Amino acid sequence: MDLLEYQGKQLFARHGLKVSSGEAVRTPEEAVRAAGTIGYPVVIKAQVLIGGRGKAGGVKLAADEAQAREHAESILGMDIRGHIVRTLWIEHASEIASEYYASVLLDRSAKQPLVIFSVEGGVDIEQVARQTPQKLMRHHVDTLAGLSREQAVEIATAGGADGDVVQGVADALMALYEVWDQEDATLAEINPLIVTPQREVRALDAKVSLDGNALFRHPDNQALGDRENEDEIERRAGEQGLQYVKLDGDIGVLGNGAGLVMSTLDVVAQAGGSPANFLDAGGGSDAEKIKQAVALILANDAVKAVLFNIFGGITRCDEVARGLIAAFTEISPGVPFVVRLDGTNDVEGRRLLEQAALPHVHAARTMNQAAEMVVALAAGRSAGTPA
Ligand code: GDP
Ligand code: MN
Repeated sequence: MDLLEYQGKQLFARHGLKVSSGEAVRTPEEAVRAAGTIGYPVVIKAQVLIGGRGKAGGVKLAADEAQAREHAESILGMDIRGHIVRTLWIEHASEIASEYYASVLLDRSAKQPLVIFSVEGGVDIEQVARQTPQKLMRHHVDTLAGLSREQAVEIATAGGADGDVVQGVADALMALYEVWDQEDATLAEINPLIVTPQREVRALDAKVSLDGNALFRHPDNQALGDRENEDEIERRAGEQGLQYVKLDGDIGVLGNGAGLVMSTLDVVAQAGGSPANFLDAGGGSDAEKIKQAVALILANDAVKAVLFNIFGGITRCDEVARGLIAAFTEISPGVPFVVRLDGTNDVEGRRLLEQAALPHVHAARTMNQAAEMVVALAAGRSAGTPA
């Protein structure tokens, strides 16, 4: 789960990392009022889940009320590479002597957290990594021991931090590691980590990703998701406890189990189709769950046909079929469905479906056959030979 800059800064502050205090607002009026309280000059920053806001014109300094209003009006509603700006963060403008870079991320191949520090901050860090990799200090952390002050000082020094701010940078690195560790983050990044003319070290930006699977340990963080910019259907799915991811195609895909759904996406693509979503209905077969899942898929107008792929293990296909029949009788979908039932009690399941003779529902025996049928149906052709 990715956090907006100001939410990341709130987490930073909780762990003693220095940030400027400010206010999140949603209208130009609120922006002007907040700026007045904070004191000019202020910086007005678009809150979207994408970097490079500065270059896109989403970060502006304002010296007075007129400028604050003008910038707030121009940034609100701005489209930054597909992300519409609905919230602004206003903070007192910082004076900058140097822009450094610091991050802690999970290095999956090393199975350890990795601390990265560079004095070449403020810019595209990938470019630094490509062109002058020697300017990036990299240090793997032993999670049992944590990041010691000695190590943090060593990273800051080796990375070329000015001598008088080495302790300040070390403090920031230790606090950033604490954020990563204690908040169950997968990424905690500061770009730029600034040094002010008064030689204070402070986080000017924040990019934090939290591990969604660990959110249950952090009730405070659960509310932080960017609900307003989230896809409406994904939001509903989340509330119903279903795994749903929107994709760009026109074939709805639904299965029981994430692995099965993923391979279903593959066979649909192989058959020349394009999936509209990923939806894992999970185990179980109750009609209510199936109904919710079908309703979610149909809520996407782009869907022209749906592939329902069930492999029965502990889940019995005849029960799934009963659930499907109950769900379809209530919803009566307007687009064709291809249902593939295989595994425990599949013969009985298919017999029940056939007997119910639901309109627009086609039974398939294998996954490949189901994929071919659904691709044909989405293209407006007939499903071909039924199973
Ligand atoms: P990003 O472009 O999305 O990474 O947004 P940042 O928060 O990193 O801001 C982009 C750039 O704007 C920074 O690298 C700074 O150069 C500049 N900037 C942001 N806040 C301030 C500020 O308070 N004072 C000054 N002088 N520049 C700022
Ligand atoms: Mn930045």
